[in-house]
Amino acid sequence: MPAISVKQAERLAKLPPYLFAEIDRLKNEAIERGVDIIDLGVGDPDLPTHSHIVQCMAGAVENPAHHQYPSYQGALSFREAVARWYKERFGAELDPGKEIISLIGSKEGVGHIPLAFVNPGDAVLIPDPGYPVYNAGTVFADGEPIEFPLKEENGFMPDVSAISDEAARRAVMMFLNYPNNPTAGVATREMFQEVVEFAARNNVIICHDAAYTEIAFDGHKPISFMEIDGAREVGVEFHSLSKTFNMTGWRVGCVVGNSEVIAGLGRIKNNVDSGVFGAVQEAAAAALNGNMSGVEENNRIYTRRRDVLVEGLNRIGLKVEKPKATFYVWIPVPDGYDSSRFTALLLTEAGIVCTPGVGFGSCGEGYIRMTLCTPEERLQEVVERLAKLNL
Ligand SMILES: *Cc1c(COP(=O)(O)O)cnc(C)c1O
Repeated sequence: MPAISVKQAERLAKLPPYLFAEIDRLKNEAIERGVDIIDLGVGDPDLPTHSHIVQCMAGAVENPAHHQYPSYQGALSFREAVARWYKERFGAELDPGKEIISLIGSKEGVGHIPLAFVNPGDAVLIPDPGYPVYNAGTVFADGEPIEFPLKEENGFMPDVSAISDEAARRAVMMFLNYPNNPTAGVATREMFQEVVEFAARNNVIICHDAAYTEIAFDGHKPISFMEIDGAREVGVEFHSLSKTFNMTGWRVGCVVGNSEVIAGLGRIKNNVDSGVFGAVQEAAAAALNGNMSGVEENNRIYTRRRDVLVEGLNRIGLKVEKPKATFYVWIPVPDGYDSSRFTALLLTEAGIVCTPGVGFGSCGEGYIRMTLCTPEERLQEVVERLAKLNL
């Protein structure tokens, strides 16, 4: 039998080129040469899930009720735990009946939501630099991504007044993400208020991605979009247990806020997935309802790592401020390099893997991103290796 000719759909060709291919190639070459690679590329906590959560899961897995299909919107006990946590942490009242659903990790919801609201040719406003899923989800819904820049002089927040009338008119949705990946920028109440006014004026659904609100240092308390008056009238917030509780492998998150927006995303999900394993939801509820000392301990560890890395970078002339939140350090590249060339140099000359800023959008050019998901001693070693490069 002759083989069929397999052709990928045009929408896949619309995704941006995979900019990390060259880095992957150099990394594999270095590994083959036996180089002791230090990987500061991936944003995935290296510490284990807190033990009371693992123990809850171990018991829950034995419950036959969890062996059947879970509920589409998420277990009521999970949604109630989310509502309780939002009230306690942010002072935001949410109705577990219609203002919260579970997600198979927040990436799943972020990736699917354009399918519910974007018609062919509609525009979606996405941050540049930004998490690549905003672009991919928009493209899969046949929408047109329109980037808005996050500039250092604005604290990596959007200048809403700089969005053109044409973009505002065509946009049906806007993605935002604070504390921010990759820049580590944090939101102010004023910026969120401007976003609410912009959304109401232009009839734009706001999708705030809040994966990092609990990773913060030096007493900084990141805010939720749901704390802002009028936020629930214009949008939703995606949250995740992944970063807060070191649960990236478990695949559980939620979306909260505007009930009509949540109903739309829910209709897409009912047709493509069947929810989160019940035992995982039980453990996630235990995480949200439980003792937060593990989260505080995480932040103490990230603070020490951040200080070792940032103070070391500053000593060798790579000037960067200490981030207030997230486990990312967003570092301007030295004169004479672009982000890809500098990333390649760090890899081939020092065995250090990091991410070129241009991989997050054209406004990420001029920066590289390093993560703090590596032990302190290794970050010390990063600084020593960089010092030898005489940058
Ligand atoms: C890590 C991350 C997520 C989501 O993670 P899940 O594991 O899918 O919950 C979402 N947005 C941003 C910006 C992230 O960095």
